[in-house]
Amino acid sequence: MIEYIPYGRQDINKSDIDAVIEVLRSDFLTQGPAIEVFEQAICDQTGARFAVALSSATAGLHLACLGLGVGVGDYVWTSPNTFVASANCARYCGANIDFIDIEIDTGNLCIDSLKKKLESAEKNNCLPKIIIPVHYSGRSCDMQALSFLAEKYGFFILEDAAHAIGATYQGHAVGLCKYSKATIFSFHPVKIITTGEGGAITTNDEALYRKLIRLRSHGITRAQTDMTHVSDGGWYYQQLELGFNYRMTDIQAALGCSQLLRINEFVAKRRALAIRYRVELANLNVDLMRADADQESAWHLFVIQVDETKRKLIYEQLRSAGIGVNVHYIPVYLQPYYLKLGFNIGHCPVAEKYYHRVLSLPIFPSLNDQDFNYVIHSLSNALVN
Ligand SMILES: *Cc1c(COP(=O)(O)O)cnc(C)c1O
Repeated sequence: MIEYIPYGRQDINKSDIDAVIEVLRSDFLTQGPAIEVFEQAICDQTGARFAVALSSATAGLHLACLGLGVGVGDYVWTSPNTFVASANCARYCGANIDFIDIEIDTGNLCIDSLKKKLESAEKNNCLPKIIIPVHYSGRSCDMQALSFLAEKYGFFILEDAAHAIGATYQGHAVGLCKYSKATIFSFHPVKIITTGEGGAITTNDEALYRKLIRLRSHGITRAQTDMTHVSDGGWYYQQLELGFNYRMTDIQAALGCSQLLRINEFVAKRRALAIRYRVELANLNVDLMRADADQESAWHLFVIQVDETKRKLIYEQLRSAGIGVNVHYIPVYLQPYYLKLGFNIGHCPVAEKYYHRVLSLPIFPSLNDQDFNYVIHSLSNALVN
């Protein structure tokens, strides 16, 4: 049997395991001290003032939309080149969703398409309340250009950085929220660091932070300053709004703290693999992502584009060679659920073209030389067939 090389996988070492065991032996499995330690570590990593640890990035997207007041009748725009969660969050809030076309050489949302879309939305009185840029593959969107438009048209920016913890933009960590209201990270095992399942929001807005903390746990507060009247006693709490149980456990947070200590090593290894890929693939018939000087990707994905008439064959050939290549992403609005909302083929032509050409190659910290060379060798073979 051929050994299977996935496109991404977690890297768990003995300190990660020891950190989890320590919590299992402690008094708190959830709602204990590890959560705040992890949140502080995320603040240190990103430079943001506040962090809220959550059960997933999907929960984070949902809460951030609610926290920014998204509701029925509002418009939320995102990229079609993403996982469905980036769009579903708007639907959870009863809002309308729309998609901005992408740039073919980065997979990120296209500022020129966005400008045109904003101009026509302004005329039709349906400007978005929030735009959710997705830092596809771990590479930041053009946040400065986006924030310029946010000022002009009055929308909030919510960064979907599920791929991008450890990335930098203009010399700052993604998650600093210099140009946005909040940033969402995912700690699913396939992402840069993992907590099993898990996510976090960073923000510099204290009122938003306090609201997110409440919404994470049923809308409940124990802070006298938030209560409608003087507390009945030590046992007393108030539910101020309709919240959820979107908490992270201490078991997960301890793993997260341990993983965060290793983030520089993880990203450095991914970056080294990306550089090697770029060298090895330079003479093959594939298109690589544009390289920009003002940022460094976290390299969650290493994507190539190939001739769209050959993509399926290349995919199948690599899969049967035991290489877990993948396709990121099917344009979200082509999902049956979104087609039922009225979207059609052709809505974002570049995203559709991209979808037909893209392949994600294996990239993860423990990918060894032998497997890397095997991927290059198998891909070269597949491309000439
Ligand atoms: C993985 C992912 C999510 C969802 O993350 P979960 O932690 O699994 O909820 C959201 N957006 C993007 C772009 C993702 O890749």
